Amino acid sequence: MTTVLDRLAERRPVFSVEFFPPRDDAEEAVLWTAIRQLEPLDPAFVSVTYGAGGSSRGRTIRTTARIAGETTLVPVAHLTGVGHSRAELRNVVGWYAGNGIRNVLAIRGDPPGGPAGVWEPHPDGITHAEEMVRLVGGLGSFCVGVAAFPHGHPDSTDLDTDTQRLVEKIRAGARFAVAQICFEPEQFLRLRDRLAARGCDVPLLPGVMPLTTKRTLTKSVELSGVAAPPELTGWLARYDDDPSGFRAAGMDMTTRTCERLLAEGVPGVHFYTLNRSTATREIVGRLDLGPARSAA
Ligand SMILES: Cc1cc2nc3c(=O)[nH]c(=O)nc-3n(C[C@H](O)[C@H](O)[C@H](O)COP(=O)(O)OP(=O)(O)OC[C@H]3O[C@@H](n4cnc5c(N)ncnc54)[C@H](O)[C@@H]3O)c2cc1C
Repeated sequence: MTTVLDRLAERRPVFSVEFFPPRDDAEEAVLWTAIRQLEPLDPAFVSVTYGAGGSSRGRTIRTTARIAGETTLVPVAHLTGVGHSRAELRNVVGWYAGNGIRNVLAIRGDPPGGPAGVWEPHPDGITHAEEMVRLVGGLGSFCVGVAAFPHGHPDSTDLDTDTQRLVEKIRAGARFAVAQICFEPEQFLRLRDRLAARGCDVPLLPGVMPLTTKRTLTKSVELSGVAAPPELTGWLARYDDDPSGFRAAGMDMTTRTCERLLAEGVPGVHFYTLNRSTATREIVGRLDLGPARSAA
């Protein structure tokens, strides 16, 4: 099974995409339309997030396994420690392996109440993602990735400590890192600099959500845990009553963000897709990140 590192060694820059597990048949159909539409563009990998509830977990596992079994895509399965004992985590990892999945994003997870809640580890589980990296890495030949936070994780006291935590996850065996959504490329680049200054050179992918609607802006703020810069919100506010104007302006801004990151030599851009493909395909086309590029 191809790993994320194999894909990043084949060519750069690339793009990758993130999906969430569908909650019902209708959402599943939407997701599979997006997967099939993105497949010919040859993303380096596609990842599926891991939810907190039992049924959501089953859907993550099923969806990732189906991507591994029925598509040409390289899947990355997310795994969080929320509510899981170590024995249960080992079981899920075994299930991933049995379905041909070799790439795992090892994450602590948010408390059931969301990012603002207080983290309570399972009595027999993991406390920090670093332990998850070791657990997954100790179970076989997995390519393990971790989450990174350009603005610092919301619980962290300061950027330096948070960067050090990321370094510890990498030293524990993580081979790549995917960053939380960040509106300002400079914030991402500063994180990259902080890592480089500590001798870490694993691929670090910036996270971008195409800004097509007010909902995508709200969702980006929610996920990133930081307010959008006033220049961006001010500009997009002009299109409050004009959805197509908002989409055009948002897509231009997203494209400019990606262009800046690519000009700085990032190995690829990781798109948070909300299980839709149209905007991602459009931006991949604008940036020439699709397969035609490798043939050029
Ligand atoms: C790319 C990406 C994908 C994600 N996918 C999912 C998903 O699929 N499902 C989901 O529920 N959530 C997901 N999240 C959200 C994530 O679960 C939360 O942000 C969570 O609060 C932190 O997870 P982590 O792996 O970064 O944890 P950690 O690395 O453990 O960090 C959590 C906090 O603990 C601190 N810390 C870390 N190690 C130590 C230590 N040894 N001692 C003291 N403090 C420490 C960190 O500084 C940080 O403040 C994702 C986030 C990103 C960026």
